[in-house]
Order: sequence, then C-alpha cells, then structure tokens
Amino acid sequence: MPIATGHTYLAIPGPSVIPERVLNAMHRASPNIYEGELIAQTEVVFNQLKRLAGTQHHVAIYIANGHGGWEAALSNMFSRGDKALALGSGLFGTNWAKTAQRMQIDVEMLDFGRAAADPEQVTAALAADRERRIKAVLVTHVDTASGIKNDIPALRRAMDETGHPALLAVDAIASLGCDELRMDEWGVDVLVGASQKGLMLPPGLALIWMSDKAAAVARAADRKTPYWDITQRIEASQYWQHFGGTPPTHHIFGLHEALGMMLDEEGLDAAWARHGRLARAIWAAFDAWGAGDSGIRLMVENPAWRGHSVTAATIPNGGAGALRRWMEQETGVTLGIGLGMALPSEPEYDDFLRIGHMGHVNAHMVLGVLACMDAGMQALGIARGRGAIEAAAAALE
Ligand SMILES: *Cc1c(COP(=O)(O)O)cnc(C)c1O
Repeated sequence: MPIATGHTYLAIPGPSVIPERVLNAMHRASPNIYEGELIAQTEVVFNQLKRLAGTQHHVAIYIANGHGGWEAALSNMFSRGDKALALGSGLFGTNWAKTAQRMQIDVEMLDFGRAAADPEQVTAALAADRERRIKAVLVTHVDTASGIKNDIPALRRAMDETGHPALLAVDAIASLGCDELRMDEWGVDVLVGASQKGLMLPPGLALIWMSDKAAAVARAADRKTPYWDITQRIEASQYWQHFGGTPPTHHIFGLHEALGMMLDEEGLDAAWARHGRLARAIWAAFDAWGAGDSGIRLMVENPAWRGHSVTAATIPNGGAGALRRWMEQETGVTLGIGLGMALPSEPEYDDFLRIGHMGHVNAHMVLGVLACMDAGMQALGIARGRGAIEAAAAALE
C-alpha cells in the first residue's frame, strides 16, 4: 500500500520548492508591458535584488537559466586576448571554466578537486601574471555538485595582497538567500544568480550584479553580443532595454513576492540562520548513519567547507540509488542524483545522492526527509549507524 499521497517534496538542489504565495502571485493574466503595475514592480524588484546581494551598484535580469548567467558574465568581462583564472571545487566550477574556453577565453584552471579553493594558490597565480592578462578570477560560492563552499572574503584578500587588478566573479546560484553573502562588503565585482534555487521561483531568470569597476570593464569589453551586453540593460532609458526585448512578466511578479518574503518578512539574516540550522541537522544525521563500517559519508569532510543549501553524500553498494527510488515511490520525496562523481552508465553512479535544502524549506520538511531516509534504509536493509533522527533533533536545538 503506497504511503506517498499528500504533499510531495522535490528535495533536489534546484529547481526548488515554490511557495504557494509565489505561485499565486504568478497566476494572473498577462500584464501590459508598456505601462502600469509591471513597470512599478520591476523597479521594486531591482532594488530588492540589490538588497539581496548586498550591493549599491548594478543588477540585470536575463531570460535564461544559470548557464545563460555564466555566459552573460563572461561576455561582459573579457576582451580578446584576456585570460581567466578559474577555481574549481566541483562540477559547476569546472563547467563555468569550460564555458569560458568554448568562448575562446584563455583559461588558467586551478582545480582543487573536492576541496575549497586555496587562497595562497590564487595569490601565486596572480603574482605570476606579470603582464596582467588575467581579467577575472571565476569561483563558485557553493558548488552544487560537491556541496563545497568557498571562502569568498579569503579569496578577495588573497587577490588584494598581489595588487592585481583582476575582477572577482562569483557564481552564487546555489547560495543566494541560503548562505551569507555580502557583495560590496566582500569586494565581489561580478555576481551570478538564477531564479530556481534559493530564490524559490521556476527556472527562467539569470541575474547578474556588477560593481562599478566591473561595469567599466563591461563597457570596454570587445566580444559581447547584443543580447548579453549588460551595458544597455543597466543604463536603459526605455523599459524594454532592461530585458533586451519582452520582459519575463510572470517571473517578475513571482520574484517580487519571493523577495518580499525573504527580505521584509523573514529577513535575510534569519533566512541564512535557518539554512544553517537545517544543514547542521542533516550533517548530524549523516554522521550517525556513518558510524561503524556502513560507509555512509558526507562528501565534504570539513564542516567549514560545507554549503548550507545542498548536501552531497555517498551510500555505498548502490544504496544511494536504491534509496532515491524507494523515497520517491514510497514517501513522495525526490532526492537528487549524485553529480560529477560517476556517470549514469557506471555502477558507482548509484552510490551517490544529494539533498537540496534551499529556499522554502523548514524543520518538518528536513526532519521528514531524514526520517523517511531512515525508514528507507530500514526497508532496504542498508547498513547504517543508529540514532540519526535523535542526532538531527539535537543539532536543531
Ligand atoms: C544550478 C547551478 C548552475 C546551473 O544553472 P542552470 O539553471 O541549471 O543552468 C550553475 N552553478 C551553480 C552553482 C548551480 O547551482
């Protein structure tokens, strides 16, 4: 007898759960795109987005997913002959670098594997660039494949030590609204976001924030194509220029609602704290399951390197895949696949999973997922340490 009927929970690291209020804000007739409410809400949204990122400077909205956001950022930072210094801590960092390569940008890659980027190596790489060809350092704040969080302020300090003028460009798609992030205070020049993770919307918007320094680089960049050119968007004199054409009407209504919930009702500090507490409960459960020789492990050993919106883990001998399937069928919870660990064609593929806990997520959802996972391991005969739910409850205190 199935026991999955009821609210489902898509616990993958994006797209995330969309609040009813956001869905309702989007459930309306198409608005006039030349005057009226949409124009007024857009202005509010641009200000909300600056508060979200912690910047006084520039923001642009593109109709695109996160990959489009990568391309928008790259198009506006690099001129012919420029180099990128890309820092990899997982599949997303590596793939942003590959996107740059495919755009014929000369990329120097520092791949840290499954570790956070080492600031000293960044200092060394910039110091070695005597011709100042490196135009920007590319780094992922929280890599959604590995779950690794990079220390952005430490990387900024490492850059500043060299006096190198490179921009600091941060992919915060998985961390915005979930992990502490302060663009201006931390000296971030270019920030990339997307609508479908911590921002609680459907996929469809890529967001780019820029410092004044980055905007000046963008004005001079010689390889930007019309759609991605950010200068027209941030200096728009007519409404349509903000979007290079028709605006994303319903996403703007949804974003207005979602950002109001985050910034004005809950508060950004409280949202960050909530994600931190929930993440610690998940880590505590995994530590308990991993006791003895079960082989169950979080992919990121060092707690300081763990993002608060996504958890990657291994349950060996195909346990992760079996548990994912059991969870979806029996409990209405969909867990994420492992990404960047093994290919779907390889047997190890089923040894990895990820849990998305970003955005509209609270204690009963996270504790429910953990308890259902515990029940699934019981039902499937997966060896595990006991006491995971007690450990999670204790971590929530
Ligand atoms: C999801 C994600 C992306 C890719 O976004 P898409 O919308 O799938 O193109 C890039 N970087 C990070 C850190 C992400 O979490």
